[in-house]
This record gives sequence, C-alpha cells and structure tokens, in this order.
Amino acid sequence: MIDPASIEKFEQIATPFYYYDMELLGHTVDILASLSRKYDIDVHYAVKANVEKRILERISSSGLGADCVSGNEVLRALECGFPAGKTVFAGVGKSDREIYDAMTAGIEAFNCESLHEIYVINAMARAYGMRARVAVRINPNIDAHTHKYVTTGLFENKFGIAGHEFDALADLLGRCDSIDFTGLHFHIGSQITEVGDVFALEARRTGEIVSYFEDKGLKVDNVDFGGGLGVDYEDPDGNSVARFELWMKTVSDNFPRRPGQKLHLEPGRSVVAQCGSLISRVLFVKRGETKNFLILDAGMNDLIRPALYGAYHKIENLSSHFRRSFSEMQAYDVVGPVCESSDVWGQGRLLPMSVRGDLIAIRSAGAYGQVMASRYNLRDFAPAVFSDDLGNAPRYEDYFSRLP
Ligand SMILES: *Cc1c(COP(=O)(O)O)cnc(C)c1O
Repeated sequence: MIDPASIEKFEQIATPFYYYDMELLGHTVDILASLSRKYDIDVHYAVKANVEKRILERISSSGLGADCVSGNEVLRALECGFPAGKTVFAGVGKSDREIYDAMTAGIEAFNCESLHEIYVINAMARAYGMRARVAVRINPNIDAHTHKYVTTGLFENKFGIAGHEFDALADLLGRCDSIDFTGLHFHIGSQITEVGDVFALEARRTGEIVSYFEDKGLKVDNVDFGGGLGVDYEDPDGNSVARFELWMKTVSDNFPRRPGQKLHLEPGRSVVAQCGSLISRVLFVKRGETKNFLILDAGMNDLIRPALYGAYHKIENLSSHFRRSFSEMQAYDVVGPVCESSDVWGQGRLLPMSVRGDLIAIRSAGAYGQVMASRYNLRDFAPAVFSDDLGNAPRYEDYFSRLP
C-alpha cells in the first residue's frame, strides 16, 4: 500500500514519476537473503529488472550477487557494490568488448549460450593471458506456462544450448585450455506462477542433464536454475512479497544435490516489482461514444509492459482516499498520451469518479518498467523518486504554476 503521508507529498511532485517504496524493497531483500542462507542457495539479483543505483546498492548490501546480461550491467553492478566474485554474465550475444571488460574484472562466471561463444571466450582468454570461468546455459525444452514473449526454455527460443549439441559441447570443453568449466545454467522464462509444478519439473530435468554431463567426465560444481518467479499483479498489497520460500523448497526437494555442489537462483522481477509504482495525473476525462476515457500523463514510453505483452497492472486513484464524501465507481478506459492505440493502461477499469489532477498509481511497476522506458514522442523520462527521499523529488511548481 502507498501510505497516505507519502500521497500527500506526491501533490507537490511533477508527474509522471517512478515511486519506489524503499521499506518494502528492504523487507523483501532481507527475507530473500535469509532464505538463501536457510536453503543454502546462492541468490543473484537479475540486474536488468531495475538498474537504479539506490536499488542496486540496497540489494548488494544484503550480500546477494548480481546476474547481468550486458557489459554495462556488469560495470553498473560492480559500481553499486556487488563483488566481481558474485557477478555472473549471461546473454546470447556478448560483444568482444563486453567479454574483455568482464574477464578483466574477474567475474564469477560467463554463462555461455552457444558453442561458438565458448570457443571465442577461450581464444580471447588465451590471447590476453587470462583465464575465464565458464558456465554453460542449457535449453531444457520446458514450457514455463507463461507469456510467449517471456518464455525462454523451449527449443524454439534462441537461448541456451540444446540436447543435440551436448556431445559436441562436452568435447569442446575438454579441448579448451584457457577456461575453467564451473557448471550448468538454466533460465526457462519469467512471471512463472505455477511455482510448484514448473520449477519442480525444471529441477528434475536439470538433475538428469547434470548426470549426463557427469557421465561424460565433467564435474558440475554449480547449478543455476535461473529466475522467473512470478508476482501478483492483481493484488500487490495482499502479496507484496513473492513466494520465495516455496520456490527454494521446490528446487531443493526436486534436485538431487551432489556433495559440495552449489545451487543458484536469479530472481529479477520478484525482487523489485512490488516496490515500484508509476505515479501519474489525470489530464483529461473524455466521454466517448460508448465509454469514458481517463487520459493520464504517463504513457507506454514510461512503462511498456501493457502495450508489449498485454500485461495487467492494478490502477488506483490515490486522490480519492482524501475525498470526504463517497465517490461513485465508474468504468474507465485508462489511456496514455502517446500516439499509438496500444497506449492503454486498462479497459473498463472500475475507479472512483475521477477528475482532472487526480493522482493515479499504476502498481507493481518496479520491474521491467523504468529500464524499458523510451523517449518516443520525444517525451521526457519519468524520474525515480524514493520513499525515504521525497523532499528531493522534482517539484510540480518547478515547471509551471498550477493551471486551472
Ligand atoms: C531475465 C533473466 C533473469 C530474471 O528473470 P525474472 O523473471 O525477472 O526473475 C534471470 N536469469 C537470466 C539469465 C535472465 O535473462
């Protein structure tokens, strides 16, 4: 819940902006860190979900590692307090520059996604007289039962190395002289809600694949199950912390861990989604032929998930909390200002009767929100505003004195 004291302060702040509840973030991260110790599973936060420095610093301070998918993310993670020894680097297309920088920094591991990449990293390590630690991302052909754009573990997806190349992979690893093979990596998709079923299947399939490589004479010291734990977009207040314990227990119960073997998870969305909200104002209310439109000053360039995936975000009228009299509920199509018909926050949403200037929160926007923003329509980027630093947010009056 966004507390009323903060909402009162929002009145002074220029919209749209990303609001981050640092208390909820801290609470979430502390729970995760303590479960990581309880189940003896290393956790790497998937940096791509949110790269705000204050957020990264809070996460690194709890001792979690970082999972990066670009060279700049590796550099940002290091800058924000994640040790190189707890930073891994995945992604299907790492450039030479990115590989060189990460190798020089001495990261925990490259999660390699093709034989060609392993070959190139080995050659670069040899050329520069360095050694690189390499884990191999496997495509286990598991359906994560999630949106097709966030499914990554099926043979039709570009990620990981699939079964028909396993023999060639074992052979190649045997011939590489400048890399150290550290283990296997998986990541089958995002916003996975069938936690018990999907992750149990992944853990069992992983067990079989680990055995296969052990039979080939490779020692698999590390097994990384990736991220993908879903969050509750419908009820962000009822389920403000994701089901981390069920996730870890499912993996532990279904994977036959070898003595000395280290297990890893890489949550992104589930760490940061619920602490963020996109805060906007109603610009206009328009009566259409068959429906009412609520036109906000936040658009798809600020948060693209609804337009890109048809994603649902809960929408709240924050100003209505302060109205004395009961306001009637109305169905609205809530839309943004961008010149695209897909710039829609939600259709037929029931909200208290809303007026120009009302503050509207688009909830669960902490993950894959600000990081995917663009300047389409030459709109400004919505800045980050932190709950413990509301006084420093850009003021509404800084832009113009209030209009009627
Ligand atoms: C994106 C990503 C994650 C995080 O996924 P979430 O669904 O946000 O938890 C983890 N590992 C890899 C390799 C990724 O690309």
